[in-house]
Amino acid sequence: MTTGVFQPYMFEPESDPEFQDDELTTPQIPRMLQPVTEWCTCGNCAAMPTEKENVCCLEIPEIVRRINQVPDTLTCMTHHPGFEPVCLNVYSLQNALNVYKADYGPLRLKGIEQRYRRLAQRSFVSWCWGYLSRTIRVVIPSCVVLRICQEFPDAADSCVGFRPPLD
Ligand SMILES: [Zn+2]
Ligand SMILES: [Zn+2]
Repeated sequence: MTTGVFQPYMFEPESDPEFQDDELTTPQIPRMLQPVTEWCTCGNCAAMPTEKENVCCLEIPEIVRRINQVPDTLTCMTHHPGFEPVCLNVYSLQNALNVYKADYGPLRLKGIEQRYRRLAQRSFVSWCWGYLSRTIRVVIPSCVVLRICQEFPDAADSCVGFRPPLD
């Protein structure tokens, strides 16, 4: 009964190309449920609280570009000779605050360590990506987030070094 009869949808693509793309890739196991070694190749990442934060420095082209600019073979972005002076040096961050204030006004964050951490992350983003908006819109890899937290921990630990004011 259908012979010679136009069948609706017979010329339609079988599926939406974007949808097909999804089908071709193997189902992704959330990284939060995998051992860190399944996705981290730098050796310094750890499981992070949200799925999108579970990213290794060596997966991000903007970061790999910086790593490849130094003569030494680096296994992790946190070993880059520019990492400390750009992202952890408190005077660099004091200056980063002034740059922020000039563009956006006061940095509305309580707690000096929290402010240092945010400025360190912002400095990392502007250094690697070359641009920055008021909020951080890229994913900073786990190893870098952890290194910054280690440098500027929340608790007023006795091991914390001298911090100039962020004014
Ligand atoms: Zn890693
Ligand atoms: Zn790393």
